[in-house]
Amino acid sequence: QSLEILHFDLQFSSESCIFQKIYLTAKLQEKEMSNAYFRIQEPTNEPYHSYAPGTPERASLKKRLKEMKSEVIEIPAIIGGKEVRTGNTEDVVMPHNHGHKLATVHLCGEKEVKMAVEAALEAQREWAALPWEERVAVFLKAADLVSGSWRDTMNAATMLGQSKTPHQAEIEAAGELADFLRFGAWYLSKIMADQPHSPDGVWNRVEYRPLEGFIFAVSPFNFTAIAGNLPSAPAMCGNVALWKPSTEAVYSNYFFMKLLKEAGLPDGVINFLPGRGSSIGDPVLESRHLSGLHFTGSERTFNHLWKTIGNNIDMYDTYPRIVGETGGKDFIFAHNSANIESLVTATLRAAFEYQGQKCSAASRMYIPESIMEEFKEKFLAEVSKIKVGDVEDFSNFMGAVISKKAFESITGYIDYARDSEEAEILAGGQYDDSEGYFIQPTVILTSNPKFKTMKEEIFGPVITLYVYKDDELDEAMDLCDSTSPYALTGAIFARDRHMIKKMSDRFRQSAGNFYINEKPTGAVVNQQPFGGSRKSGTNDKAGSVMNMLRWLSARSIKEVSDAPVDWRYPYMDEE
Ligand code: NAD
Repeated sequence: QSLEILHFDLQFSSESCIFQKIYLTAKLQEKEMSNAYFRIQEPTNEPYHSYAPGTPERASLKKRLKEMKSEVIEIPAIIGGKEVRTGNTEDVVMPHNHGHKLATVHLCGEKEVKMAVEAALEAQREWAALPWEERVAVFLKAADLVSGSWRDTMNAATMLGQSKTPHQAEIEAAGELADFLRFGAWYLSKIMADQPHSPDGVWNRVEYRPLEGFIFAVSPFNFTAIAGNLPSAPAMCGNVALWKPSTEAVYSNYFFMKLLKEAGLPDGVINFLPGRGSSIGDPVLESRHLSGLHFTGSERTFNHLWKTIGNNIDMYDTYPRIVGETGGKDFIFAHNSANIESLVTATLRAAFEYQGQKCSAASRMYIPESIMEEFKEKFLAEVSKIKVGDVEDFSNFMGAVISKKAFESITGYIDYARDSEEAEILAGGQYDDSEGYFIQPTVILTSNPKFKTMKEEIFGPVITLYVYKDDELDEAMDLCDSTSPYALTGAIFARDRHMIKKMSDRFRQSAGNFYINEKPTGAVVNQQPFGGSRKSGTNDKAGSVMNMLRWLSARSIKEVSDAPVDWRYPYMDEE
């Protein structure tokens, strides 16, 4: 009511700009007004369903898979809340049955990028002015949809479009995605409460503002959860985003975009732009309003984006924040005191789950001579039991690799090893893309610790073993640390406590996520913040408070109650 009166008075007393401004500020403050400090309950990690025979979740997921597979949908871009069909389309197929079409996706280009930048900036004023608790409410609701009524849809879409088994889909498209959203909201509430010291007579405050401009979120094919988090984390902080999903994961990603709408995300806060990398990337990075890049994908793409931002730096209104998580050449390093059974299980899961297409997948292993024979016998016996095939057959442990391009690249490494004098294929090595892009779990043994498959990220179901002499542990650790340019994940296996300490120290910079007697995959939000350094990225730890801070720009405010009225200092007085 007082605002109404103010407005009334102003209209009649003056038309001047200053008064207009006061009115607008007052109006905005009214919108921002909160009558309490709001607290977000510390979340717990979303529990996983087992999908074991006889469970209702299994029946429900199978039903949803069948429904979704029976229709071909159209995937438009979503700009300012509106569906945009460009007519430049591409088929979305299942990797494990590439003759089966799931969707037609409309690909965007420069025109749609321009529309999206405008829509985002338009949405930004109101979104940034919303109190933080109102913004996170949207994402908390989205988390409940992910873990509730949309769970089957998110899992089924991830299984069909990215060829994940029910377990692999469940732990991320449901579990990790809900965790990212809930913990993101909680971290933000903790940041907001973090305030500076105020001495007597002074009130110091820090306000956590979103960045000015828009965030460019660029996501990889391999995790629906990462894709959903890349635009959502900055958006919770009050930012607006242009989200470029991977065309290889666009099916599940589109359903998440629809879910956000149902959760109440205002139009234009996140704009969904499917398309080829450079058709979207080039025009986006030419916008003066770019305020940040939130990227997960390969080192090559990240280097390209970073260089482009560097070249365009004079164009931008602000220095863009650059956050990127990239590749890995993740290791398992065994000591001769290791428990062989747990080493076998960890290596098998870390190397072959989701067909080795995890940035954290174990793809090189160092094993001492004294335990090699026992390990080899047990490991190969288990690998031979792995079933590869259609993910709708729940007895399969592995599905197909994502695309023809991936299939050709991975099988190229296998052929290289087959033809090399320095390597032997101990298991697998077969592949067949007649129906789906299937590659058998492959184990290579090499005599050369710097062999190509020990150094380069393959991103497929291939692990290479190198055997070291027991009394050359230090040399072997040096090799492990220096062979690849990455430093994402790594695991050591040992029972000898002195050795655990020695190896932990030696590998301090070799991995951002380090595991002791545990596989190097499967990081959980709020338990093992995820990311690596060297060529694995900026290590801003997705799903942690460290990441959220990157999307905020603090404003320090100092207010004094009794401002000095004499400019002179006491030391200047006469003796
Ligand atoms: P990719 O680099 O091929 O693609 C990632 C995204 O970048 C896609 O959306 C792609 O379309 C886009 N892109 C490509 N060129 C672009 C350009 N010029 N402008 C704008 N966007 C462009 O990676 P991918 O194959 O989707 O994912 C696999 C890679 O991601 C692996 O290297 C893996 O290790 C890495 N990864 C890392 C993490 C991590 O947390 N460190 C997590 C998952 C995946």
